[in-house]
Amino acid sequence: MRTIRDIIVVRTVAEMHQIVADARASGATVGCIPTMGYLHDGHASLIRAASKKHRLVVVSIFVNPTQFGPSEDFERYPRNLDHDLKVVAEAGGAVVFAPTVEEMYPDGARSTIHIPQISEILEGASRPTHFDGVATVVSRLFEAMHPDEAFFGQKDLQQTLVIEHMVSASEIDDVRNVTVTVLPTQREHNGLARSSRNVYLTAEDREDATAIYRALTGASEKMADGENSRANIEAAMRRTLDSVSGLTVDYAVAVEASTLQTKDLFISGEQVALLIAVRLGRTRLIDNMVVKMP
Ligand code: AMP
Repeated sequence: MRTIRDIIVVRTVAEMHQIVADARASGATVGCIPTMGYLHDGHASLIRAASKKHRLVVVSIFVNPTQFGPSEDFERYPRNLDHDLKVVAEAGGAVVFAPTVEEMYPDGARSTIHIPQISEILEGASRPTHFDGVATVVSRLFEAMHPDEAFFGQKDLQQTLVIEHMVSASEIDDVRNVTVTVLPTQREHNGLARSSRNVYLTAEDREDATAIYRALTGASEKMADGENSRANIEAAMRRTLDSVSGLTVDYAVAVEASTLQTKDLFISGEQVALLIAVRLGRTRLIDNMVVKMP
């Protein structure tokens, strides 16, 4: 078992390149987990999975300013490196890459990556520059960490699709050759998806937030019983969410899972993504579930 003292904290891209090159020279493969820190068991599950497959596991911790909108929570986003190092050590990681903003954006973020269509709907409609920031930083993190495989959570389903598109469209070998692996959402005992932003929630908010998981499971049960109409599935989710007065729905949709495109009726065997975004006070929460139509 590693301790905090065994973890190497790397601040520069040059040092990161050196560590990865040395590891590769000794025959190691490299797994990476890009995060914004304030790590919880969702992140730990990704680190554990990576450490089962790769000798070198690098966790990046970078609160990326370019994926926050001007009125969003960049400044107050929670940060706690000591706690994070403990989580990384316990989950089997070896290296934490925690660069400064200047190190990641020496050009002042003048060049950005835009992945059309998938970046513009749902989260992208509510947060217009968000996915450009995500695609750009993940490409730069992959260049720095040069992983064989990168691990992401299904919690951010639309983000995983943006990243898969970014990787396959990349002209940079170290980015295009990365295998993207998506693993299941980790939840609290009451179904609430683990999120660094849950720290913003009051006890009452937390109770209200359980409606998200109830809406997802309720809709998925209806689908298991044969409901295949988008309108009916979405109305069922809305009813559950609207019954909680402290919660404002941004969207609650049923869409085709691999494209997030809307359609009126789902067919047998189709993978359907149920996606929810809500606001609780100043906190925005997202969650999703992928259901196969019976
Ligand atoms: P974040 O630090 O929120 O940017 O998340 C970093 C990575 O951890 C992303 O791939 C997320 O999808 C993933 N992640 C966040 N929350 C969870 C969760 N509850 N279960 C599994 N993965 C998660």
